[in-house]
Amino acid sequence: MAKRDYYEILGVPRTATEQEIKQAYRKLALKYHPDKNKTDPDAEEKFKEATEAYEVLRDPKKRASYDKFGHEGVQGFEGFGRGAYTDFADIFGDLDLGDIFEGFFGTSFGTRGRARRQKRGADLQYDLSITLEEAATGKEAHLEIPRNEACEACDGTGSASKSQPTTCPTCNGIGQIRQTQGFFSISQTCPRCRGEGKIITSPCKVCNGTGLTKKKRNITVKIPAGVESGSRLKITGEGEQAPAGGIAGDLYVVIHVKKHDVFDRHGNDLLCVIDVPFTTVCLGGEVEVPTITGTKVKMKIPAGTENGQMFRLKGHGIPYLGSYGKGDQLVKINIAVPKKLSSRQKELLKEFAKLSGDNSSFTDFY
Ligand SMILES: [Zn+2]
Ligand SMILES: [Zn+2]
Repeated sequence: MAKRDYYEILGVPRTATEQEIKQAYRKLALKYHPDKNKTDPDAEEKFKEATEAYEVLRDPKKRASYDKFGHEGVQGFEGFGRGAYTDFADIFGDLDLGDIFEGFFGTSFGTRGRARRQKRGADLQYDLSITLEEAATGKEAHLEIPRNEACEACDGTGSASKSQPTTCPTCNGIGQIRQTQGFFSISQTCPRCRGEGKIITSPCKVCNGTGLTKKKRNITVKIPAGVESGSRLKITGEGEQAPAGGIAGDLYVVIHVKKHDVFDRHGNDLLCVIDVPFTTVCLGGEVEVPTITGTKVKMKIPAGTENGQMFRLKGHGIPYLGSYGKGDQLVKINIAVPKKLSSRQKELLKEFAKLSGDNSSFTDFY
């Protein structure tokens, strides 16, 4: 079957704003939410389709690529998968995200009928501030992450004897109990095991039976060259750890690039303004320009260069993230006018003015 157009799937025009796209997705996701549509075999497909469309259109880079090249333009991007959705709490507000996503993408995927969920550690976000230089070269960042880790005393089982939890006798391990009242039969979460289906008879005293303890973990993360403010790096499995038998959450490192004194970033290009003596722009010459790598490069100033004129230093910008090549450095000329002149300098300038046919009457305002 041919893939449908992402805009068509979400029912929004190609000019839709981020907010409109988000709202459209929210509506569809709630409508086709797999837990609400157990009897509709098409709902799951529609939910997946909408999610995929949203994943692309919510991301300005992927959206631009999709607009240009269609489905082929977004094939190479990573991020289709469970982990990609977990920071979408704002989409669903108070809804239990776990209900929507774990049942769908977790271990019970495809089986339906709500097999007991595997416990999954929460995802964590770490905000990392870096300098523009670091964004240009990439860096190894050492992060200290406070997170839940498997309790050492009980090997994460939560049980003092380290034995595996035993089947809950109240619900026989189903996690649900059924109550019959007249014609009605109501199913509800087992109060004894809280739906786990298993209970711990003698809880570990260190972790109170949770199987988890708080620890500070040092993690080294490679920040690739070219990241920008808002770039999000996903480090699979480095979020909150889960008790025995569960899966760890993911860690998201969100990059914040600090403002630079000299350079302004525009995409992958860097803009800087340099002062050039008025004599240099008149006569032509060469100036030294600082670059983001710390080295200085020589740049030719042609005679007659105007104030505000821009020059391009090819390949001295920021590297393209995950690709080859770099942006450029744009150098804007600011003609520096001397503020204090010696009498000799004035004399020469007056002579210069005379030769240029400049008949203004020069006064000293100093
Ligand atoms: Zn323990
Ligand atoms: Zn139970």
